[in-house]
Amino acid sequence: MKKQLEQFAAEHTLSLNKSDMYGSYNGYQVSIRWGNIWTSSAFYVGFHVNLGNKANEVINWLTISQKKELRIANVTVDGSGFYCIFTNMTLGSSLKKAHTVLYAVIEYLKAQGIPGDVCPYCGLPMEEKKLVEDNFCLFNAHEACFASKLSQVQDAETAEASMPNNYLKGFLGALLGGLVGMLIFWGLFQLGFLASISSLVGALVGSLLYTKFGGKNNKMKIVIIAVVVFVLTAAAFFLCYLQVVRDAMTEAGVYGSTIEMLSYLLETNQEIRAAFWGDFAMSIVFTIVGIVVVAMSMVRQQKKVSSGMKKHS
Ligand SMILES: [Zn+2]
Repeated sequence: MKKQLEQFAAEHTLSLNKSDMYGSYNGYQVSIRWGNIWTSSAFYVGFHVNLGNKANEVINWLTISQKKELRIANVTVDGSGFYCIFTNMTLGSSLKKAHTVLYAVIEYLKAQGIPGDVCPYCGLPMEEKKLVEDNFCLFNAHEACFASKLSQVQDAETAEASMPNNYLKGFLGALLGGLVGMLIFWGLFQLGFLASISSLVGALVGSLLYTKFGGKNNKMKIVIIAVVVFVLTAAAFFLCYLQVVRDAMTEAGVYGSTIEMLSYLLETNQEIRAAFWGDFAMSIVFTIVGIVVVAMSMVRQQKKVSSGMKKHS
């Protein structure tokens, strides 16, 4: 695996690090990054150029006519260039695709007359340049341009950190999301399924509403959403079983407490007991999986932009 990477880096005149490579290829500053964010299987091919007034044209070309052609999943733009992102399958196929993307995009940039040797931030020539790291990618830029972006990012992060946080409203948002999950659980249960996706949807909706209602995206948010969705899904499970017992009692003309009947059945009927706890265990597993998936994406969003920015000597 290391050999493949070394060969690719050498062929493209790039310097190789542990989980990225960078340098100048055909006159353009580029970088390639893979899997150094623990939850991601994405492959990033970065072009550290200043698009100036051609930005829209280039991005439209990429996202409209080239996305299918080059089979890239996504294109993101930031103040220091743009990134073509695709799913990392095998290293060999990813590197092959990276080469295709590098080649096609650089040919296009050349044809458009977009210079490859200027500061990615300001677009002016670089007599003095510094190796910097932005978005976890390495490239050369004016030291002052980098410093100015870093301080802007840090100011924005400080401002966000000091914004008021409304746990109560956030909690209400999480609760609404959890209720949506409950409804899905109930609906699918009526159709005879154990709802594997209810907690996933519940946590997703809860996460969106939590933020919309004024809760901040911090560790506490993850805890609140996880607990709310877990408790409500477990509650949905019990309510569904109670309803089954209720219906059976009505049909049989039996009166009395549904909860008592359910606990009586669980105590005395081995078949019902096995089905109940089996379904319960499955529901818990589905619930945990759904919550973990959503929590992982929240952790990713919590990563600060400034954590991907560093000055190198
Ligand atoms: Zn500059």
